[in-house]
Amino acid sequence: TSAPALLAVSDLHVSYGKVEALHGADLVVPAGSIVTVIGPNGAGKTTMLSAIMGLLPSRGTVTIDGVVQPQPEIEKMVALGLNLVPEKRELFGEMTVEDNLLLGAFSRYRRGERDQAASMEEVFTLFPRLKDRRKQLAGTLSGGERQMLALGRALMAKPRLLLLDEPSLGLAPKIVKEIFHIINELKARGVAILLVEQNARAALQTADYAYVLETGKVVLSGPARELADDPRVVESYLGLG
Ligand code: ATP
Repeated sequence: TSAPALLAVSDLHVSYGKVEALHGADLVVPAGSIVTVIGPNGAGKTTMLSAIMGLLPSRGTVTIDGVVQPQPEIEKMVALGLNLVPEKRELFGEMTVEDNLLLGAFSRYRRGERDQAASMEEVFTLFPRLKDRRKQLAGTLSGGERQMLALGRALMAKPRLLLLDEPSLGLAPKIVKEIFHIINELKARGVAILLVEQNARAALQTADYAYVLETGKVVLSGPARELADDPRVVESYLGLG
């Protein structure tokens, strides 16, 4: 028998007031793998990530390493090794690059870990551009640099699973390529990735496994390479070009 998945979600429901946005979603992320969730605007992708992190109340089952998390809470999820990079990046614009990074390590610092300088150097090997700009205010960074800082900040927590909400959104093609390169590099370092993307082509090329979410339901799932060839995915998400 194999080890339980790092993350398993089953029958997840989330409502905003009387409106249910997620109608019983199932999803599994094995340790060290890249899993993507694609789907149109408003399908519930962000909602799913927020519920997994405990940022929204949900019904259903979230299991980490085979252990059910009765009601996920953000601090517990971070302590268990999950970290979210939100779509809006949510950096502290009036603080420097360096201080934003240090904040990412806060939960580890509080647990008594004092290796933040080494963690920061590790982030700088992935993002040399952040090193050059370590004293710059985050609010003055370019869009690509902001995404790199958001990723770097999440990595300061030494996550086992990174939840990425549309990391390529609004970025120039060259930066998008860089971001996907980093995602592959993180996988090579053993970090699992749950990747929500509008850029279905790049996501399916990068991921091991994929889910298609439409109006709050998983309508299709399978190995990413197979989904990339599925006529329904090609028609709705890959189109021409
Ligand atoms: P996008 O790609 O546009 O970010 P998404 O797939 O991430 O879309 P969600 O943002 O999760 O979709 O939204 C799912 C549904 O829930 C949408 O109908 C949205 O309008 C609704 N919704 C999201 N946040 C809220 C909120 N705070 N209050 C009420 N409804 C919300």
